[in-house]
Amino acid sequence: MQHPEHIIALGKTLAAEERAGCGDRSLPEGLDAYLTQWQAGAGEDLEHPFVKMSLAQLNGYRDMPIPKRKKRMEEALKMLRRLFRPEPEIETPPEPSAPVVEAQYQISPHEKLSAVPGIERKNLLAFKRLKLLTVEDLLYHFPHRYDDYSSQKSIADLVVGANETVMGIVEESRLVEQPRVRVEITLGDESGIIKAVFFNQRWLTKKIRVGDQIVLSGKVGIYGGVRQMSGPSWEYYRPDHDALIHTGRLVPVHWLTKGLPDHSVRKIVKYLVDVSVPHLQDHLPAALQESAKVLPLNQAIAQIHFPNSIQEVEQARIRLGFDEFLFIQLGVMQRKLLWQGELGYQMQHFPDVHAELLSHLPFALTGAQTRALNEIFADMARPAPMARLLQGDVGSGKTVVAAASLLQVIANGFQGALMAPTEILAEQHYKGLKRLLSQVRVPRQARAAVEGEDWRARLSSEEAAQLAEIKALLGMSVEDDMDGAGVRVALLTGSLGAKERRRVVEGIAKGEIDLIVGTHALITEHVQYHSLGLAVVDEQHRFGVEQRQRLRDKGFNPHLLVMTATPIPRTLTMTIYGDLDVSVLDELPPGRQTIRTRRISKHDRHKAYRHIRKEIEKGRQAFVICPLVEESDKINLPSAEEMHERLQSEIFPDLRVGLLHGKMLPRDKDQVMVAFRDREFDILVATAVIEVGIDIPNASTILIEGAERFGLSQLHQFRGRVGRGEHQSYCILIPHKENETSCERLDALANTSDGFRLAEIDLELRGPGEFFGTRQSGTPDLKIAQLTDVGLLKTASSIASTILTEDPQLALPQHTLLKQKIEAFWVEARKAG
Ligand code: ADP
Ligand code: MG
Repeated sequence: MQHPEHIIALGKTLAAEERAGCGDRSLPEGLDAYLTQWQAGAGEDLEHPFVKMSLAQLNGYRDMPIPKRKKRMEEALKMLRRLFRPEPEIETPPEPSAPVVEAQYQISPHEKLSAVPGIERKNLLAFKRLKLLTVEDLLYHFPHRYDDYSSQKSIADLVVGANETVMGIVEESRLVEQPRVRVEITLGDESGIIKAVFFNQRWLTKKIRVGDQIVLSGKVGIYGGVRQMSGPSWEYYRPDHDALIHTGRLVPVHWLTKGLPDHSVRKIVKYLVDVSVPHLQDHLPAALQESAKVLPLNQAIAQIHFPNSIQEVEQARIRLGFDEFLFIQLGVMQRKLLWQGELGYQMQHFPDVHAELLSHLPFALTGAQTRALNEIFADMARPAPMARLLQGDVGSGKTVVAAASLLQVIANGFQGALMAPTEILAEQHYKGLKRLLSQVRVPRQARAAVEGEDWRARLSSEEAAQLAEIKALLGMSVEDDMDGAGVRVALLTGSLGAKERRRVVEGIAKGEIDLIVGTHALITEHVQYHSLGLAVVDEQHRFGVEQRQRLRDKGFNPHLLVMTATPIPRTLTMTIYGDLDVSVLDELPPGRQTIRTRRISKHDRHKAYRHIRKEIEKGRQAFVICPLVEESDKINLPSAEEMHERLQSEIFPDLRVGLLHGKMLPRDKDQVMVAFRDREFDILVATAVIEVGIDIPNASTILIEGAERFGLSQLHQFRGRVGRGEHQSYCILIPHKENETSCERLDALANTSDGFRLAEIDLELRGPGEFFGTRQSGTPDLKIAQLTDVGLLKTASSIASTILTEDPQLALPQHTLLKQKIEAFWVEARKAG
């Protein structure tokens, strides 16, 4: 302020006029004339926004009706007083333990929205459609973008073509009926005028009147030489900055549903933020907020809805994203602590058994396989149950790692289980493992130690007969398990007859079987293990957290090894599999052929068919993948059924074309796969069900229709269906929509065979939700946190371990709220999964 006394004089004059009842008689020459004079002497103070706003209130004072004068005068004085009594700076947030700030009106965040006075029924219904039931739900319904109206300018400075916000006085307002009903207003400030046009809002003539001071926000156009906004958002100007909800700042835009104009949402959210957020208790103790360098919760929530700047949005996002990561980390770490806090089977290592296994392999282990095995052996040598994820690209050789691990457990006298997602995969594993492991002599150390003698000597004749029966049942010859010295492997699937199944289940319970291979049947059936020491889950992404737990419940605390071929970026493993330690097979066995991958236009499809025919003539087989099962009105894309029909009747009438899709019964699916493996079909048309690691070495080509609809990781999985034999193999990608991004992504697939690299590209391009093609069961939904934000994840992770080190059960009073939050969060995650 240059001349405070000049401004004080103005204030005194205005106050006198107010006391006199705003009759415009307190000054001989009238207020308008006085103000003109006053402005002439005000110099640079005129530029002060509060002075400007105050004067703007009084513009055209003489022509205003008295009630309006009174209102305006009050505002003008308020503005001036602010000059001398500035608003307090943003206060430092209260300590969460300190008593909450007093407000005139409070609403608990747990209150039902329907119990909040003033929310209209139609809005309530619309909220319900969005599953927003409580105040807290709405507070956590974050804006998905912000429109920047934060820079207010004078009318003369508005830029045509830009989104602008401007404040002024309504100089003219009229209703025009032709050619379309519209309300046209003229808004003026000291620098010029702008028009605003509102179509089909006749009622606005009653709301926006000449002399009103309003704020307009919208895109500036030009019409007949006059600047104009068409359908801008508008609001009465209220000098309280915080009351400018819709305009004059970053305007939050929320996800909406029908019947919910964003105007209403903002108003309601604003109201709730005002009355409820100050009372929001922070689940994160103050000291931890400080060490994580994040905002207090109430500030973050208020700021994410009504930020004053992009920086404020960012700060709020950091806090809220931190929370999400924290909940996940606490959840998974707690689970891990719980598991590993239990006593597990401590396994002795048998180097000679391992060496014997290696001697039966037609190849040497890769460095990565050896590393992973050492990690697994070290885990199992501890008296705590292992929980490890083995990640390795398609063909990296996970099976043999599983086999070597299982063998050690069996040598210790325990049983092993291997669970596969489909019967055909289970059967494939069964055959492979039986061939390999039954040749290996195992000492059955633990049992011998317990029993103090050779176990076979203890067999009664009845038991010996049973053992013979079960071996016959399993198709095991004497050579197969070297008369009991080798590993006894059994397959347990849904397709066993009732009698055989009973026998196998019995054998498992009695410990006559060392290794059980199967599907979900291993955990869903009434299977009792004699002594389950290690459970291996193959193709993990088909199994949720709960199934894992159930499998573990089958043993006392068996070691657990989960295997997945889906390369998962580090952030995702930390979040989803944070309860598992990770081993990575980042090296393919030597001499792997690369699969020739190409994107072709759908107009060149006939060329792909020619290629397939040539391959089939050479004795090979081919896959054709379609994204959809049935015809769809919405997506003009051949479905698997249509494609099957077309290929069989038009393109390859002389060949045998099979069909496989997810709507088929599991048994029928398996039948089709077996038939394809046995070369009863030349071509298999399939949907995404084909993804999981089935081995058909004779298949050399995979053609993928609508390829842009799949994630890169998923496409990479599809590609892994071929190239599993000695034949040069091909992957042909046909995008349905050929735009730049889809072509770019598909070319990335053509140019790299590194699954991890592809997974990262995928995560960046498509986000975590779609990462797996289908939602990962039990994956928490992240609203705010970006999985690519490794820094924030690490912070959350370290805070989580700080918390759990001090209070593993979250039993301390300062963690009560946090505990509740985590529980609620995981309940949601499970529902979603
Ligand atoms: P995945 O990791 O996809 O499950 P598999 O375990 O099925 O891979 O192995 C793929 C193929 O590679 C199998 O035929 C297997 O015998 C072979 N294999 C595994 N390890 C090696 C190795 N170290 N050297 C050569 N071939 C190997
Ligand atoms: Mg495999």
